[in-house]
Amino acid sequence: MSAAIRSEAAAGCAAPPVIRERGQREVFCGLTGIVWLHRRIQDAFFLVVGSRTCAHLLQSAAGVMIFAEPRFATAIIEERDLAGRADMDDELDRVVARLLERRPDIRMLFLVGSCPSEVIKLDLSRAASRLTRQFLPQTRVLSYSGSGIETTFTQGEDACLAALVPELPASDSPQLMVAGALPDAVEAEFATIFAEAGIGPVQFLPPRRATALPPVGPGTVLMLAQPFLTETARLLEARGARLVVAPFPIGAEGTRLWLQAAAQAMGSDPARLAAAMAPGIARAAIGIGRHRALLEGRRIFFFPDSQLEVPLARFLSRELGMELVEVGTPYLNRQHLAGELALLPAETQLSEGQDVDRQLDRCRAAAPDLVVCGLGLANPLEAEGTATKWSIELLFSPIHGFEQAGDLAGLFTRPLRRRAALEV
Ligand code: SF4
Repeated sequence: MSAAIRSEAAAGCAAPPVIRERGQREVFCGLTGIVWLHRRIQDAFFLVVGSRTCAHLLQSAAGVMIFAEPRFATAIIEERDLAGRADMDDELDRVVARLLERRPDIRMLFLVGSCPSEVIKLDLSRAASRLTRQFLPQTRVLSYSGSGIETTFTQGEDACLAALVPELPASDSPQLMVAGALPDAVEAEFATIFAEAGIGPVQFLPPRRATALPPVGPGTVLMLAQPFLTETARLLEARGARLVVAPFPIGAEGTRLWLQAAAQAMGSDPARLAAAMAPGIARAAIGIGRHRALLEGRRIFFFPDSQLEVPLARFLSRELGMELVEVGTPYLNRQHLAGELALLPAETQLSEGQDVDRQLDRCRAAAPDLVVCGLGLANPLEAEGTATKWSIELLFSPIHGFEQAGDLAGLFTRPLRRRAALEV
């Protein structure tokens, strides 16, 4: 059973129309976030408490990465446990003890919950407290859920960062906090611009090392680098941080507006920021310009997947001249996306949630030039002759900031070039 409700007046008369759907979904679960989170927090380990399916998902999402010292694994809960023949808590404690004995370099261990009913019965947050008592100060153990019942794939990062918030030390001092996992190169770009503009101190969440958790408190100005951190932002605000809503730092325009919002909230000199941004803006214009001719006037359709869809659509329409057919997102956080929604062309068709069959019908009827979707939909659409972009690539590639803006545009020209080559 599914439902599609068209709502035109949810956020005032200027709000774009939204189709709301609750039906069958085609998205990855929150475990996928481990693939980028483990690279970011370099002394953390992610232990999925799950089934063989979870282990396979992680292996295929991680692709061909080879690790000398892997930083995630799956503790497989066998069916025998269902019948209660093993004490699951003891089993989990044994697995953790073995792991930490072999890997004393692990400073933070995340127990990541999953879907199977035998895992749901386990109280992972209690297990985490018990294991923290046992292994502190060497290792802190936290837990969150990456279950496909509760999370789509980027919500796994939100759940992970939300688990970190209660661990952050308190501080009233003025500071800027940037929340959302960013590749090292992007973090370095932002850190350089902030330093040149005289904005600081700046903290990044998650930190590179679990032993260097950033402080938070009433002096903290919070900027989100990712649009899917609803719970993390809520908890940081509860700790006193002041959330500044702005467009996300994706594309040259989004990056400029995001940095300007941060500078204003930190009370720093706009002229100094403009000077710090100028070289990046110039390079982004050249990078984006290389791709504009191929994308301008092309029609793009977004299936809901990563929650990055609205900022990406804004970038593609405003900086590359693409026409937005439909912009689907699993969850539309109107507060966090207010700066983005204001920049979308009037009457952009948004959709929230998913009923995959209905959406496929709309997509086929519209016959867009390019579709952004998950892996499960890409193969059938490609077979029908539609060019697709896998949304997961947008999470695995550096896309934020001025320096990446040209490469981000290139991620959308590549499938069009490939299809043109096939047609020739
Ligand atoms: Fe594991 Fe559930 Fe994700 Fe499947 S959807 S991989 S069972 S957590």
